Amino acid sequence: MSATSSFVVGLDVGGTSMKGGLVSESGAVLLSERRPTPRADGPDAVVAAIRGFISHLAAAGDGVPAGVGLAVPGLVSADTALYATNLGWRDVPATAFTALDIPVMLGHDVRTGGLAESVLGAGRGIPDFLFLPIGTGIAGAMILHGEPYGGASGWGGEIGHIPVFPEGEQCACGQLGCLETYASAASVGRRYSLRAGLEGVRAEQVVSSDDPVAVEVWDEAVEALSVALATYTLLLDPTMIVLGGGLAEAGPALFDPVRTRLVKRLAFRDAPPLVPAALGVDAGMLGAALLGWRAAGRPELGSGWAVDVRPEPLVS
Ligand SMILES: [Zn+2]
Repeated sequence: MSATSSFVVGLDVGGTSMKGGLVSESGAVLLSERRPTPRADGPDAVVAAIRGFISHLAAAGDGVPAGVGLAVPGLVSADTALYATNLGWRDVPATAFTALDIPVMLGHDVRTGGLAESVLGAGRGIPDFLFLPIGTGIAGAMILHGEPYGGASGWGGEIGHIPVFPEGEQCACGQLGCLETYASAASVGRRYSLRAGLEGVRAEQVVSSDDPVAVEVWDEAVEALSVALATYTLLLDPTMIVLGGGLAEAGPALFDPVRTRLVKRLAFRDAPPLVPAALGVDAGMLGAALLGWRAAGRPELGSGWAVDVRPEPLVS
């Protein structure tokens, strides 16, 4: 194998689409493509689609990939996708995802994005921080001592389901008053639409509106976020909090009021800085590529890479 054939496949598997790429030893993204996730066709069809996508990407490279990394939703260990409700998976071994005889490593989707932000992005050189993407849902990657932490059973980081308002609205998860119910982009759009008697209003429209109902809905989202971030800060004392996902594209309209409330909530200690994520929609794919290099026995790769950055669309 020539030096130029040294690359891995990184694949970020989402509920609606998959983002795959080839990433070289020096961090060059040689190719990146997106395909739909055929979720409606059932769990096995999604596994088969991933296998096909990986073979397609690998064939575009010069030689055989050194490894494959996959970021997948749900409960996951390095070698098994244990449980994913939205894809219907139970105990799918990593080897089922590729027809190629090369090392494979799996990672949890948000923690894999957090790994990328930690090694290549906003958290470069910061051992302890929270990566919180706010999109359709909310989940966090707790980076502790330089590595994403998944807890005893893999459920660590479900910050979207912290009950911020204990007697609050019912969440889709079955609990009451979860952060996600108030502050995800989907929830901001949904809650405003419901109160205003409209349909399909997007979070970005709510954030930029001076309609009193929109102001109220946004204020509740900000309040919910400040409660959750104060809780995280008091528990884990992060160096900083990295906000990402579509809603972070709202910029100062999100960061300024959340920062103000967080500072106000914390009486005896300073609030950690809130900073925007650096890798946008590519965080999952780049993190998956880092896992691919780990699978290939090259865990040291990544820290010297300079990567191109693209913003994330504001979705609701
Ligand atoms: Zn919940």
